[in-house]
Amino acid sequence: MRAPLDVAIIGAGVAGLAAATLLTRAGHRVVVHERFETSRPLGSGLMLQPTGLAALDRLGLRGSIEALGARIGRLHGITERGGTIFDLLYADLTPEFYAIGIHRAALHGELWAAFARSGATLETGRLIVDIEARADGRSSLQDENGRSRLGFDLVIDASGARSRFRPLVSQAAAQDFSYGAVWAAVPDIGIADGQLAQRYVAARIMIGYLPVGRALPGGPPLAALFWSLKPGDYPQWRDGFEPWREQIFDA
Ligand SMILES: Cc1cc2nc3c(=O)[nH]c(=O)nc-3n(C[C@H](O)[C@H](O)[C@H](O)COP(=O)(O)OP(=O)(O)OC[C@H]3O[C@@H](n4cnc5c(N)ncnc54)[C@H](O)[C@@H]3O)c2cc1C
Repeated sequence: MRAPLDVAIIGAGVAGLAAATLLTRAGHRVVVHERFETSRPLGSGLMLQPTGLAALDRLGLRGSIEALGARIGRLHGITERGGTIFDLLYADLTPEFYAIGIHRAALHGELWAAFARSGATLETGRLIVDIEARADGRSSLQDENGRSRLGFDLVIDASGARSRFRPLVSQAAAQDFSYGAVWAAVPDIGIADGQLAQRYVAARIMIGYLPVGRALPGGPPLAALFWSLKPGDYPQWRDGFEPWREQIFDA
């Protein structure tokens, strides 16, 4: 193995915890810096594609994640009139391909346990605001309270889509999407077994249902229910449950 490196990782999300675990296992000295006091999952559920499952395999977590999650073989989107928008089978690509719907708490829990076992260091309550390249070829980090004297051979920015360090690698500004989504974890009532199911009214309205398995071993099966929404329409949606319910029945 090459000489161990001192590695700083900014952010203890999915990417930060996974990178820290693998780099520590490879013999490097890793310190993860997270702005929040506690590393925690946000949101209800997501789909792990074959690439993400391959990464979890390398981490030794694929089996436990698959045991918690729900296997997804089909992506199916139709309009309110029954017209097909997409109908995709993973097996049409490669017979052994599939996705896993997973509750974010389950994914975070497994990644967190592997990270804790790895021996990497976590510093919480550290909002990193700057990365400085030093004369000795190493880099140091600055948080809100000042610059650390520690030098790192490698700094990994795993601070997410809204990273403040984006300008260091790209001149293109991050673009906001015109649509977002509200979502919830609901009991899985079996209306879309093995599928991500989406219903559309033109390109304006979309409701989706994704089985995500269990948040904890032995817990009840859950699904992520999501509704697309322009950010400016959120207050009206929040304050009008009955009109929204009618819209859903129409869709
Ligand atoms: C509604 C929705 C649905 C999605 N569905 C899917 C899906 O089905 N499949 C899929 O693969 N992906 C999906 N995604 C995207 C997925 O959630 C993200 O790609 C993933 O969470 C990114 O992980 P990350 O670790 O890179 O960043 P994040 O999860 O954003 O973690 C970044 C971490 O860095 C910390 N941080 C940020 N700035 C600083 C700083 N300056 N200093 C210190 N700490 C900092 C944050 O507190 C956070 O803990 C979805 C996203 C949304 C919003």
